Amino acid sequence: MTDNPTTVWNQVLSDLQREVPRASYETWFADTRPVQLKDHTLVVVVPDSFTKGGIERRYQSLVEQLASAACGREIYLSLQISEQSPDRSDPPQLGQSESPSLQTHSTLPLNPDYSFDRFIRGKNNHLAYAASIAAAEAPGKAYNPLFIHGSVGLGKTHLLQAVGNFIVSSNRSMTMLYTTSEQFAIELINAIRTNSTPSFREKYRRIDLLLLDDVQFLEGKEATEEELFHTFNELYGNEKQIVLSSDRSPEKLSRLQDRLVSRFRWGLVADIQPPDLETRIAILREKADNRGLVVEDAVLELIARRISSNVRTLEGALIRAIASNELEGMELTFKNLEKMLPEEGKRAQLTINHIKEEVATQYHLKRHDLEGASRKKEISQARHMAIYLAREMTSSSFPAIGKQFGNRDHTTIMHSYMKIKKLIQEVPLFQSELHEIQEGLAAQFNTPAQA
Ligand code: ADP
Ligand code: MG
Repeated sequence: MTDNPTTVWNQVLSDLQREVPRASYETWFADTRPVQLKDHTLVVVVPDSFTKGGIERRYQSLVEQLASAACGREIYLSLQISEQSPDRSDPPQLGQSESPSLQTHSTLPLNPDYSFDRFIRGKNNHLAYAASIAAAEAPGKAYNPLFIHGSVGLGKTHLLQAVGNFIVSSNRSMTMLYTTSEQFAIELINAIRTNSTPSFREKYRRIDLLLLDDVQFLEGKEATEEELFHTFNELYGNEKQIVLSSDRSPEKLSRLQDRLVSRFRWGLVADIQPPDLETRIAILREKADNRGLVVEDAVLELIARRISSNVRTLEGALIRAIASNELEGMELTFKNLEKMLPEEGKRAQLTINHIKEEVATQYHLKRHDLEGASRKKEISQARHMAIYLAREMTSSSFPAIGKQFGNRDHTTIMHSYMKIKKLIQEVPLFQSELHEIQEGLAAQFNTPAQA
């Protein structure tokens, strides 16, 4: 038993090599570095957000089990993305910046990859991009508030964080906050519970720039709407910049208070549309270059032609292609990619088995785990998700789904379905995780038109 992070991590790595396939181990763990072990938290640095997401999705609980075994007490894994310079010896702090006040004020950390430089401009996002730059250069002066809307995976979070990253790198003594409306709601509830609403208000009303992501999640949260209304007035009145994002335009936020929605439209409302083919190719080129991958134009073009609606899915397809190339030796030829990303008309019909396979792979489980009776949290959660997706993405009835999940009763299946439905509403992060799986499946298979 030890408290040295390096010793613990080495033990975890050597256990992992036995537990996971070699290629996966190399992909996910080769460039990890332990930096701190304090109380119950082991902090490990990973090279990029891709690795962070991959480990969290597939290996978090396995790693925590192994680390707990190595330490003799319960250990939680916290992954941090490495700073640019690889030879830094001190642990990077999330949200760290020149201005100490920034650090204390930043609720959610900014992803350094989400910069203006790495955002590809196209006809589809030109206005949103230009307005974001203007807001970053002259906060509170140009467009206030700036309201960016567009459907999932089109770059809203990227732009909001680019404004934040721009402010950090320009070294101005400004205080800012990036958060999601859900996080804002959670904090407010905690503040109310602990009688600390004054300091909550102080925190949000004293800043120079508020970046509030996904305001659609405010719908149905009256106290939070009320609070945001006053926060908005205070910031706006003091000419402080507000940038908001939403998955739909203000007029479609029908369940929000009118007075809030009308304020959202006081400044500039800019939408982001799905990118056209040239922009999609340029985005793929940027993503490949950024990872140091050498990929032929023809390959990028094929991927860009096959996936059109969502940049995150586009990126996912590129990563899948690269992984098959590196791990399974699949050559990146037209024919092979054709198989991997079939044209819409040539895709196989999505079945419940496909869903089980995909969910099992994502969560590092076996297909029969999903059919079986285990009540372990990670297994039952994945099972609920597979059931939810089966209902949403195929035309199967609850009883028919039950048959394919270990002959479960249809009420049990309905229960799983409702459970996920509720989680989606409450936890946006969970929603985006589910979305990713859904998009991945939709890119490979034909699905019946959604009701
Ligand atoms: P949203 O918040 O709208 O759901 P994100 O901002 O999370 O979408 O974008 C999803 C992914 O797509 C991110 O990895 C982001 O960097 C990338 N992305 C989206 N649009 C662009 C773009 N125009 N240029 C480069 N990357 C983009
Ligand atoms: Mg987002």
